[in-house]
Amino acid sequence: MIIVMRTDATADDIRSVEQQVRDLGYQPHAIHGEVSTVVAAVGDESVHASLEPLSHIASVDRVFPIQKKYKLISREAHPESTVIKIADGVEIGGNAIHVIAGPCSVESEEMVVQTACAVRDAGATLLRGGAYKPRTSPYSFQGLGQEGLHMLRIAKEESGLPIVTELVKEGDIGVVCEIADVLQIGARNALNYALLEAAADTGKPILLKRGMASTIQEWLLAAEYIAKQGNPNVILCERGIRTFETATRNTLDLAAACVAKLESRLPVLIDPSHGAGRWDLIDPLSRAAVAMGADGLVIEVHPNPETALSDGDQQLPPAAFAELVKGLRPFVGAAGRSLAPQIEAPVR
Ligand code: PEP
Ligand code: MN
Repeated sequence: MIIVMRTDATADDIRSVEQQVRDLGYQPHAIHGEVSTVVAAVGDESVHASLEPLSHIASVDRVFPIQKKYKLISREAHPESTVIKIADGVEIGGNAIHVIAGPCSVESEEMVVQTACAVRDAGATLLRGGAYKPRTSPYSFQGLGQEGLHMLRIAKEESGLPIVTELVKEGDIGVVCEIADVLQIGARNALNYALLEAAADTGKPILLKRGMASTIQEWLLAAEYIAKQGNPNVILCERGIRTFETATRNTLDLAAACVAKLESRLPVLIDPSHGAGRWDLIDPLSRAAVAMGADGLVIEVHPNPETALSDGDQQLPPAAFAELVKGLRPFVGAAGRSLAPQIEAPVR
């Protein structure tokens, strides 16, 4: 922590602050400037009392941290980017860009299998689909639950794609982990620390969406909760934040994704579907995401979006998704990246 003394602080005031810093278990180092003095307090904050209350001392101007609050996920402490192995040939965070695609909600076996095979043939390397849906209205479709998980299992067998699905509550961990290769923590649970720790304990890679009103620091600290629990495999996902704008469902914050890439060692994905809430913006936003250095995309695809039970206005039909991936290739090349190799259909 840095304690900045007021310009009129006396030598006695400075000595007194140094003593209080010592009393709290830290080593004070005073630096005397032309105008004011700062006292650097060195020590481990996780085992000592907080220094922030020193701002109440009349001779202290302000107190602020010098170290980042996130340590395990920071690039400062771990300069190498983390590459997360999901399955054979599916590693997120390296040079290859991964496209994760599938329906917002699993609605039937037929639709999820059909979507899985179509997105695989178009170049997606993971299937996303919600069996448990956290819906804003309690009257909206809530997902098929365990039945939906069973359908995802069949879609995985039929398509060969690993599965990303959302965990909404601790009680579902057992059944969700039976089929999920990656656990998604959604925007609504992004700051549910007990759920983050329980998800971390499964040892599965966690796709952590940014909360719709989370600052970048809150998002990164949520990832730190997972890492502190002993699970280093966190994939960050920017999915738009709530702003005053009404033309889009959320405001896709690409700058936050850039900051997350700079500040953390973790892979960062972009979800333009929830980010914009409009099918007609998914293509341009995906290109922008690749250009800014994202490690992948999460895109909602439905065989017939007009009939979707959730998020119909932001889902692409498979043919449009295939066009999107095709159009992405030059942008991927220009970014010095490659598209992850296509997953082969299982041999029967
Ligand atoms: C979803 O992925 O379908 C979803 C509910 O996303 P978010 O948590 O970003 O709203
Ligand atoms: Mn959705």
